[in-house]
Amino acid sequence: MNDQTFRTAMGKFATGVTVVTTKHGEDIHGMTANAFMSVSLNPKLVLISIDEKATMINFINKSNKFAVSILSEDQKDVSAYFAGQDKEARDVEFNWFNDMPTIKDSLANLTCEVYDSVTAGDHTLYIGEVTDISVTEGEPLAFYEGKYRQMSDLNGVV
Ligand code: FAD
Ligand code: NAD
Repeated sequence: MNDQTFRTAMGKFATGVTVVTTKHGEDIHGMTANAFMSVSLNPKLVLISIDEKATMINFINKSNKFAVSILSEDQKDVSAYFAGQDKEARDVEFNWFNDMPTIKDSLANLTCEVYDSVTAGDHTLYIGEVTDISVTEGEPLAFYEGKYRQMSDLNGVV
């Protein structure tokens, strides 16, 4: 099985899109991630999966905490930027929540302390214990078959 077959199959699993952020001292770092899931209600745990090549790994290993911002349908440009697809450097104004940088105008923000981490192949799985949550109304940005979608598009294709 080649990498493309794997990615094509995984792309059939429609997801939302998040930006994972963290802060170590004065340094803030963000990256786009769709490998995000809810894990446990008691305690409240979530999971993110980060490529070993991502700069984010060094940040979380030092800060031992991260935030997850669930993007709205209007934030495709934010996702592309934090995936490094939009090369023009930006001076991003973060939304400060529970002393962590998060993405402004996203649907939900979670702050987490690292509860556990596991190396899994070429990624590290970080399980985070949720320390605070904020939620707003709106429609999510979706990712399906390697493309950004809106919920209305998905209604048309499934
Ligand atoms: P970089 O590539 O250096 O940073 C990402 C971008 O954010 C750069 O443009 C950088 O300038 C900017 N940036 C970061 N911090 C700041 C700041 N403080 N101020 C201003 N700009 C800043 N990879 C995974 O490992 N796991 C996933 O689950 C995952 N899901 C993805 C889902 C989608 C839809 C897409 C498009 C990509 C996904 N990726 C995922 C790939 C990942 O987003 C990219 O490989 C990303 O570039 C890795 O980030 P990095 O930490 O190496 O940092
Ligand atoms: P794509 O067609 O590569 O993604 C389809 C699906 O494949 C993703 O939703 C994910 O589930 C899986 N996938 C892709 N790359 C992976 C990786 N390196 N490790 C584990 N699973 C992976 O979508 P695209 O628009 O070409 O992606 C843009 C870039 O972002 C690519 O470089 C891709 O590798 C990366 N990406 C990484 C992950 C991840 O690390 N979990 C997830 C999505 C996208």
